[in-house]
Amino acid sequence: MLIKKDFKPLKNKLWLSSPTMHGEEQKWVDEAIRTNWVSTVGENIDEIEKMTAEKIGCKYAVALSSGTAALHLAVKLCGEKLYGQPKTGHGTLEGHKVFCSDMTFDATVNPVTYEGGEEVFIDTEYDTWNMDPVALKKAFEIYPEVRLIVVAHLYGTPGKIAEIKQIAEEHDALIVEDAAESFCSTYDGRQTGSFGDVGVVSWNGNKVITGSSGGMLLTDNEEWANKARKWSTQSREKADWYQHEELGYNYRMSNIIAGIVRGQFPHAEEHVAKKREIYERYKEGLKGIPVSMSPYDTERSNVNAWLSSLIIDRKAVCLQVRGEKEVAYIPEHGKSCPTEILHAIYSINAEGRPIWKPMHMQPIYRVNPFIVRDGNGRARSNAYSNCNILDVGADIFHRGLCLPSDNKMTVEQQNLIIKVIRACFE
Ligand SMILES: *Cc1c(COP(=O)(O)O)cnc(C)c1O
Repeated sequence: MLIKKDFKPLKNKLWLSSPTMHGEEQKWVDEAIRTNWVSTVGENIDEIEKMTAEKIGCKYAVALSSGTAALHLAVKLCGEKLYGQPKTGHGTLEGHKVFCSDMTFDATVNPVTYEGGEEVFIDTEYDTWNMDPVALKKAFEIYPEVRLIVVAHLYGTPGKIAEIKQIAEEHDALIVEDAAESFCSTYDGRQTGSFGDVGVVSWNGNKVITGSSGGMLLTDNEEWANKARKWSTQSREKADWYQHEELGYNYRMSNIIAGIVRGQFPHAEEHVAKKREIYERYKEGLKGIPVSMSPYDTERSNVNAWLSSLIIDRKAVCLQVRGEKEVAYIPEHGKSCPTEILHAIYSINAEGRPIWKPMHMQPIYRVNPFIVRDGNGRARSNAYSNCNILDVGADIFHRGLCLPSDNKMTVEQQNLIIKVIRACFE
């Protein structure tokens, strides 16, 4: 329970994860303007496509307007490969189910709906807070006809992607790999984003490196890379006039945005090193109170530690009730909850965040199937109560939170955050 001690608020707001600029960004943006290459073609775009493909270890990287746009085209490529070209006005996944990560940002799964498909959410495991391969196997027993999996790596921690890939191969299914949060993270020595049939990274403002916005579609398939490029430019055919034979989108990246990404690129690993130091300092500083940092496979993965997150021990969670938009909790000595800790963090002019509320608990997706590893396959969690939590996602959402993880945070600022969190358990 937080006892109001004298925690002086920070003079400058400490953000969850804000952009960090270095100067080269300005140079490439200026160069684009000076040479009048300010549209959706130019050297900055060509360069970051090369740099990204090389970094990830894939053959092609297509620069797009956002990670969400990249996810949409990734899902559409897979849908067309599996089920053929749709009738105009219909998505490629019309009438088909798709297995999706459950505890993630909704940008991961929305493209399935854009394409007319139905998300079947797969519960989370405790080892990495990502899609549970055991629940995925079970999902294939229940829906053997499914041929597409959309999987994310939460907060930069690689999920059990090699296991998921093997299950996909057994069922002849394709994978869209959402590495929006996990740029530079590796599993078995391989970059995330390179495991799926199509991968995605994001350059949104709060990610490890940024273009202010933007994203990339990653693939080894030349035909797919070309198709994504064509779709992203309103599906313009090669002709003297605007000739259109299929549905298109305006999803290209601007050469100005690409200039910012180009300037950030050489600093990616330096950002990750900072993020990892932050994670380690939290881990050390929070010893002795009933919390643990988000886990990862120390043998098989390297994490970018994009957002440091913690989870409170079950026995140390005070009563906390979350409705759809409101929350209440009852403070208790020796115990705390994400709401209390987040409020304490906000009170000193810093920013934290709840864990992504699982998709199966979201009003928009509440009627979709949801598969857990135990029980008879289908489960519903009770969002209103502490008890009857049947699934891992709801449990982590109930007990976990994201901590300020800005890579410009000073040790003094972080020590204050740590003190405030410790005070919540007094
Ligand atoms: C940020 C993010 C996206 C979307 O990327 P945008 O570039 O913001 O469209 C997709 N999935 C996850 C998991 C993300 O965190």
